[in-house]
Amino acid sequence: MKVAVVGGGPAGCVAAYTLRKLGHEPVLFETQDHVGGRTSQVQREGFNLGSGALFLMGGIYPHTNELLAELGRTGELVPWDADTQVLDDDGQRYRAKFDQVVSFLGMPVLSWRDKLRITAGVAKTFLSRGPRSCFDGAELAKWDTGDLDTWSRRVLGDRGTRYITEPYMGFLYAVPMSWLSPALFHAVLKQFHKLSLSVPKEGIGQISQWIVDATPHLELHLSTGAEKVAARPEGGYTLKAGGVSHEVDAIVMAPEPGVAADLLEGVAPDHSVRTLRECPYSDYAHVQVGYKTNPWPRFKASVALPASTPRAWGACVLQSHRHPSSVPPGGEGVGVYFYTPPLADMTDDEIVAAALDAITEVYGPAPHPDVVELFHYPRGLSIATPGHYARMDALHAQMPAGIHLAGDYFAHAGVEAAILSGERAARNAVAAAAGGGEG
Ligand SMILES: Cc1cc2nc3c(=O)[nH]c(=O)nc-3n(C[C@H](O)[C@H](O)[C@H](O)COP(=O)(O)OP(=O)(O)OC[C@H]3O[C@@H](n4cnc5c(N)ncnc54)[C@H](O)[C@@H]3O)c2cc1C
Repeated sequence: MKVAVVGGGPAGCVAAYTLRKLGHEPVLFETQDHVGGRTSQVQREGFNLGSGALFLMGGIYPHTNELLAELGRTGELVPWDADTQVLDDDGQRYRAKFDQVVSFLGMPVLSWRDKLRITAGVAKTFLSRGPRSCFDGAELAKWDTGDLDTWSRRVLGDRGTRYITEPYMGFLYAVPMSWLSPALFHAVLKQFHKLSLSVPKEGIGQISQWIVDATPHLELHLSTGAEKVAARPEGGYTLKAGGVSHEVDAIVMAPEPGVAADLLEGVAPDHSVRTLRECPYSDYAHVQVGYKTNPWPRFKASVALPASTPRAWGACVLQSHRHPSSVPPGGEGVGVYFYTPPLADMTDDEIVAAALDAITEVYGPAPHPDVVELFHYPRGLSIATPGHYARMDALHAQMPAGIHLAGDYFAHAGVEAAILSGERAARNAVAAAAGGGEG
């Protein structure tokens, strides 16, 4: 079976890899001149900048781990000891470790009463039933009731919410908690003991390249965006990409959902196209700032997170701590990741100026940087608003025969969600062709 795969982010690359593994013929189309999508690396004057994704999250990324083991790449992950400072509104700083939720209990700003309340909430969440996976939309849909702000205040109390949930989820999704479903944080608390952070030695962008390298005889069309899809009367589809028509038996559609909606107009039901188009995304910006000589060689913490959100930024990350090869020897890089709501009122120049101010606030004075790169996406991160998972999961059954959707948006942003969705789409394509329907 010949299957077109649209989109060379982790979801599309894994779909192509899985199709080949199952004995089929994938043809991968990617608009850009490289694979990786929002995990891609960008090289600037000796700095290896992440255009998007920063880290993998250990045991809560089981599909990613299995895949990397299968590719023989597990040994190429560099652990990241994410020493964290939580910054209070009054400038006080508290130490924690991002991958050890329990360490947040050590913050002196929390009273014994707060700590008891939080411990009881975490213990109850851990011991009672709840989502087993952090990135499987179908599973998360079962636990998607209300919004995260309300859920967290009920489970961890107001101060647990302010000093744990807000900095934590602010770093991951950079939107107000009332916008989000509680299911992901619920799942994280249930698996807090499995959390650990790591980064491939040349950055997250390496993962898609590793997958493509491990897919023998892959027909890969880079710099070739899919433009149009039409059903053929005799079955299968014609996919036009880069001005050329390709006849295929099935399609795995793995670009962001707005692009999938455009391509599926007139092919999939109107209401499904509308659901894809309305899939919620956050406006997202981060600024990568590079110094060829490290201005703060003795600064200990890797990550600074505001306790609540009076600041425009949601996280500052020292890149040499995250993965040493991201900066030239003796240099340092800082990623300043912005909180979504203020971005709507900021120009790109204001975002860069706010990033430089944030760096001075967190780390102290620095000379003029050698590299300043702004990454600003009007649709940066797929976010799971209440009801999101079930809405997205229902799309699979609404697709016409031979069209299979993949992408992180079936859960929420995250490499694990993308990899899981790509594997599933490929397996479903094969099962459907064999007469087994959706698997
Ligand atoms: C700032 C930021 C930080 C992040 N941090 C993390 C993190 O630390 N850990 C983590 O796990 N995740 C993180 N993520 C999320 C992670 O990057 C995504 O979950 C992942 O990239 C999603 O993969 P995907 O394949 O679904 O989509 P994408 O990576 O968006 O890939 C889609 C691909 O489709 C291509 N495409 C679009 N239109 C067409 C077309 N017409 N024809 C052909 N190709 C097309 C695009 O060029 C792109 O390459 C972050 C994302 C951002 C933006």
